[in-house]
Amino acid sequence: MFTISKQFTFSASHQLEQLPPEHQCARLHGHNYVVELILQAEELDENGFVVDYLDLKPFKMFLDEELDHRHLNDVLPFPTTAENIARFLYRWAKERWPQVTAVRVSETPKTWAEYRENR
Ligand SMILES: [Zn+2]
Repeated sequence: MFTISKQFTFSASHQLEQLPPEHQCARLHGHNYVVELILQAEELDENGFVVDYLDLKPFKMFLDEELDHRHLNDVLPFPTTAENIARFLYRWAKERWPQVTAVRVSETPKTWAEYRENR
């Protein structure tokens, strides 16, 4: 099994309105998000790749156009936790690249949340 990954970044604000007001994440704040796409394949393509990194450009365009420098609460129809964002981006990417096996979303250098489907 081959595994590759690529990191993408975007910056955005959000607010976890479901939390009690004394929780710091309930206040308006922002992150420089790092999103990692993880892709796997048993066999390589004719070029020796799992997926050509260049072919992942639509993912970067999607992040740039839909999420970058936005208030995530305005553009995403769910509580904007890293966990939920990871699942949302996994589903978007999985439709385009079946080799996607997980998406990680990091809000800080010390934390990440991952979504992958159980198999
Ligand atoms: Zn946050």
